[in-house]
Amino acid sequence: MSFESLNLHPSIIKAVQTSGYTTPTPIQQQAIPELIAGHDVMASAQTGTGKTAAFMLPALHRLASPAAVRSRGPRVLVLTPTRELALQVSEAASKYGKFLPRTKVVSILGGMPYPLQNKLLSQTVDILVATPGRLIDHIQRGRVDFSRLEMLVLDEADRMLDMGFIHDVEQIAASTPADRQTILFSATLDSAIDKIAARLLKSPKRIQI
Ligand code: AMP
Repeated sequence: MSFESLNLHPSIIKAVQTSGYTTPTPIQQQAIPELIAGHDVMASAQTGTGKTAAFMLPALHRLASPAAVRSRGPRVLVLTPTRELALQVSEAASKYGKFLPRTKVVSILGGMPYPLQNKLLSQTVDILVATPGRLIDHIQRGRVDFSRLEMLVLDEADRMLDMGFIHDVEQIAASTPADRQTILFSATLDSAIDKIAARLLKSPKRIQI
């Protein structure tokens, strides 16, 4: 299978080729078609499997079409358990989105100063990558507009559960539009993850790598 056969926007294929990738990894081969078709997906995939591109390429593919709702808020939200992972995801978004016009990626992380984050959240955002605790702070202060949010990604959901963030994650999800597409990645898919998926995802396609 090739990236071309996944029907991704040509600018995304160009970025992937520039990154030196020739073949989609197994998680990418399975998840990308389901995500482009608009399905919710829950997938078990470890770091190193290419899981970031598996959700980021379809997210960018979405952004290549105009937003249905007029607002400045993010169209894609990625929640991660740690600042390090959030930064990796932001870098991947910029790398794979570099040939798409005006794709604004913002990270909102704990431990960083509020004034800069307030400014970033008041401007147009396409992809917001955040750790749950700090994002909840901004939501409670009314600084995040999710009216045009189309896609919510829970990256490393098992770690967010282990670190005690799942209540925050559920509260964040509740403040986004109900008709969003939701994607859950986890190292393992066990009963605790199934419960979260049952609350936050709609008829998800299950992918096990
Ligand atoms: P991840 O599992 O998302 O942390 O990705 C692990 C590494 O694989 C990253 O350094 C990516 O740049 C790289 N990668 C992702 N997709 C591919 C691919 N299709 N071919 C080669 N390398 C890839």
